[in-house]
Amino acid sequence: MIDHTHDPAAVCWVESAAGHADFPVQNLPLGIFSLAGGSAPRGGTAIGDAVLDLVAIAPLLEADVAAAVKTTAGGTLNALAAAGPDVLRRLRHGLFALLTDPAQRPKVANHLHDAAGCTLHLPFAIGDYTDFYTGIHHAENIGRIFRPDNPLLPNYKYVPIGYHGRASSVRVSGGEVRRPMGQTRPAGHEAPGFGPSRRLDYELEMAIWVGQGNELGQPVPIGEAGAHIAGLSLLNDWSARDVQAWEYQPLGPFLAKNFHTGVSPWVVTLDALAPFRRAQPPRPAGDPAPLPYLYDEADQASGAFDITMEVLLTTRAMREAGLSPHRLSIGSTLAMYWTPAQLVAHHASNGCNLAPGDLLGTGTLSGADPSSFGSLMEITASGTQPIALPTGETRTFLEDGDEVVMTAWAEAEGRVRVGFGSCAGVIAP
Ligand code: CA
Repeated sequence: MIDHTHDPAAVCWVESAAGHADFPVQNLPLGIFSLAGGSAPRGGTAIGDAVLDLVAIAPLLEADVAAAVKTTAGGTLNALAAAGPDVLRRLRHGLFALLTDPAQRPKVANHLHDAAGCTLHLPFAIGDYTDFYTGIHHAENIGRIFRPDNPLLPNYKYVPIGYHGRASSVRVSGGEVRRPMGQTRPAGHEAPGFGPSRRLDYELEMAIWVGQGNELGQPVPIGEAGAHIAGLSLLNDWSARDVQAWEYQPLGPFLAKNFHTGVSPWVVTLDALAPFRRAQPPRPAGDPAPLPYLYDEADQASGAFDITMEVLLTTRAMREAGLSPHRLSIGSTLAMYWTPAQLVAHHASNGCNLAPGDLLGTGTLSGADPSSFGSLMEITASGTQPIALPTGETRTFLEDGDEVVMTAWAEAEGRVRVGFGSCAGVIAP
């Protein structure tokens, strides 16, 4: 629903919000922050170069919205998101009013903190994490590498493929990602060995955060599934390709992918993304229609999102030389073969209970063109075509000291751009 909070002419009295690449007043993403000196983590919204303390300004909001906001004093957004889309929308309206009315400034300004002085935390206590596989170009590219004769298995166009990941190793953006040890069988070797992964990779994905859950045994109809989504962030599914190749059959990803998963700290709500909804791109001729439990006309008409996603790489040598990051790819979330609502409906279709703060990864979102491939596995053709960097270095997979930064933003004619911030990590031995 597009309303006055998306008005491109809206003016926020926080000066840094005007023209901010990520956090203008039309965005108002939700997250968990703390201040230097050890204040307790609590809910905040990013506005320009500042973070607004939501618990502190809660008394200025409607009573039921204020009660939901105060739960973030516990250090997670779970209970706020569980309050549902109506409360999230009225929170957005309330924040928008406070930040665009100069008369409110004296009551609000004291609760703004310089973002540079804030520590950002995981937005949710994540009970469960599921990673899907909705990027059909990625599925074809990876399938071709692992199974040259049979890249896309016949179930792909009927059932949203996914696996249960590990919630305990999801970390907020920033800091180190330790190179995992693992069992691998290098080409030409009869027996496997154990040691540091030599084919460490990233996967460019979006995170879909569950808001309201569903009871065990109570599926979520496709027409209601979108209302169970609180918002989106960026997700990096760090992957050890050599471990993956040896361990993945017959039960799928395991230790190759559960050593660390990164997410960006700000949850961009579906309300903020309303201007960037699109029709789900038509399936190629000959592809089957979704089965009825995954098909909803409104979802097909506006259930996809046009979000641009970019991946940047810097090596230690590049940083020491003061060089700009090397862009590895730029693409769009329109590469998803299934909509976010279809993922929720499918996940709950057997009665599986989703809970507030559950994390659904979209799967790697590669476009058709190599400039939009979302992993090194694809960009370097499984390590056979190295990338040349401005220092003269080359890369097939990630080396110690390499930093991967993912960013994302949405823009459209006549609309103010909203951004996701970044999801970053540096490889450590
Ligand atoms: Ca993945």
